[in-house]
This record gives sequence, structure tokens and C-alpha cells, in this order.
Amino acid sequence: MDYKTIKKSEITEFLDNLIKEYEIAAPIEKDDIVVFDKIKSSNGVILEYSNSVKSPKKFVIPQFETLISYNTNEDTTNVKEHLDEQKQFILFGARPCDARSFLFLDKVFSDEKNRDIYYKNRRDVVLIISLGCTQPQETCFCTTTGGGPFSSEGSDLLLVDIGDDYIIQVITDKGAELVKKLGLKNAQKDELAEMDRVIKKSEAKIEPDLELNNLKDKLDNSFDGSDWETLTEKCLSCGVCTYLCPTCHCFDIVDEEKNRKGERIRIWDSCQFPHFTMQASGFNPRPTYKERYRQRIMHKFSYCIDNYNMVGCVGCGRCISECPVNLDIRQVLTSLYYSMLSGRT
Ligand code: SF4
Ligand code: SF4
Repeated sequence: MDYKTIKKSEITEFLDNLIKEYEIAAPIEKDDIVVFDKIKSSNGVILEYSNSVKSPKKFVIPQFETLISYNTNEDTTNVKEHLDEQKQFILFGARPCDARSFLFLDKVFSDEKNRDIYYKNRRDVVLIISLGCTQPQETCFCTTTGGGPFSSEGSDLLLVDIGDDYIIQVITDKGAELVKKLGLKNAQKDELAEMDRVIKKSEAKIEPDLELNNLKDKLDNSFDGSDWETLTEKCLSCGVCTYLCPTCHCFDIVDEEKNRKGERIRIWDSCQFPHFTMQASGFNPRPTYKERYRQRIMHKFSYCIDNYNMVGCVGCGRCISECPVNLDIRQVLTSLYYSMLSGRT
């Protein structure tokens, strides 16, 4: 792997240069929270932050998008597919857990069998420059789900803060091409030693891994277990956890038409909403919070392994820190795990 360096004082110039050629999204403060947004200059970009409240998934799965529009008259119907040409796009400053979430979304929307052309159209132009976590939060558990505060999976370049400078790890060919254009300096031996020290120190701050060996098998055997109800009874089915989650991706498609003109729209949806599984007959297979929350856990920690060979969670902790009733997915998993071990479910 190649390692480059850049002075922190040069980051604004670095970004302003990139903006001339690429569309860039970076962490900024908006309405008192950190979010990712497209930027026109480096002003206001925040790199000292724990994690954004909202994940950056909206850049590949917008919360709302028009798939096609159409108009009809007596004789003809004209249909327009909304697959606009995308400008090369850099997601700058994303955390390694969020970069990994893009790999998961690729499996869902862009594998050989299931190719969502709208997703692929946006995803193909994305280059991710992530920023390793020197200060993981109490809610982070990325190491349990296969990642880490400096995991390079999903990133094209990874920045490591070593004080006055960043080391830039060059992960992919796409990243290497960008670095070549920018003519950055090679990192020196002492800088690489400092990088190793920073990484080890940060990894040690993450709480010890949850004990989740064979969790999938245990979950599969406990679908009808009694613990689900008790563990999830305080859930409000508000959907906050799914909307903020970088890997949750359920959507709804609706047609809206007026005066012979219409649009087919895709919008985010949530398995936590009562109407998500409501059938036209009025029957709902997931009528209460128990079935809905169980679905969220089973999907992420069992069905995703069957379908994608990867858990559908990157351990970002958003669903823990933002849940209005403090329902902690780590505690739910741990309780389920141990109650299954003791044969209670
Ligand atoms: S777990 Fe929390 S955030 Fe998720 S739906 Fe239930 S109450 Fe809302
Ligand atoms: S389930 Fe929770 S911790 Fe896991 S990726 Fe989604 S928001 Fe993050």
C-alpha cells in the first residue's frame, strides 16, 4: 500500500482544488447537527467530529427520487427515464463504518443478479476519502461487525490524523489516480510509526467485542422465542433507527398523476412502520413492535448473511445514540444471545 502525507493546514486548499473538478460532499454543521452535504468551498467543513447524525447513504439512495415521468394524450404516451449523467463525486471525511456501508449497499443494489440502474448510475462516480476515528464514541461497535476505526474497506483513500499532518493511505486504483494528480509527498518512516501508534490507541478505546459467535444460528432457532416481546416493548416504531442507519435501505414506490402527467417516485420507507407490511386485505403479518423490531434484527444478523455473506450492520451506533427510548441494539443482541444459550427462548 502507498502512504502519502498532507499538512492539516493544506486541507482547505486540497479541497478547494478538488471542487474545481469534482462534486464534493463533506461533513458540515447544519441546524446544530453534523451532516454530509454538497459543498461549493472548503469553508465550514468540519473534520473534528465524532460521527454525523445522518449517514451519507443519501448520495447513492436519495430519500426521494423520480424514477420516470410520463405524459399521455389520446394517442401517445411519452415516458422519460430519469437517469441523468452524473459528475465525478467525492465523499470526503466519511467515517470508515460509513465507507463500509457502501460495500454492503453494493451487494444489495448492484450485484450480478440484482442491478438497480439508478443506484449504479450514482455509485459508479463515487470516490470515498474517509477519515479514521481517533475518538470512537461509547456507542461505536464497528469491530464487532467486521470493521474498525481505521478499516479501509469501502474507502478509496483513508486519512489518519497524526497531529499536524494526515497520512493518506492509498487503498484503490481510483484513489491512486487521484493522489497522482495531486502530487502528494510520500510519508516518512517516523510518520508511519506515528500512524501505527494512533491506530492502536484508537482501537483500544472501542469496547470489547460483543460475544456474538454463532449468533445467526441462535437467532434462526429463536424466531418464536418469548424474549422478543420483553426486549422490544419500549420501541415506539418511530423509524428513526432505520432512517439514520447507513445500511437500512427499504423503499416504497408510488405513482403520482395529475392531468395526464405523472411521476413514479421512490422514497425511503421503514420496516418499523406499522403500514410497511399492511396488505390490501387489511392483514398485517407484523402487527406490533415485537414483529417489526425482530425483523430488523433478523434481517441484519441472519438474512443478510444468507443473502450477502455480510451482516447488515456496520456498528456505527446511530440507532443507539438517536433512539428516543434508548433501545440499544447491543443490549438486545447480548440479551438474546445469552437467553438463547441458557435455553430460555
Ligand atoms: S428502536 Fe428506537 S429508533 Fe427504532 S423504531 Fe424503535 S423507538 Fe424508534
Ligand atoms: S443497525 Fe444501528 S449500529 Fe448498525 S449500522 Fe445501522 S444504525 Fe449503525
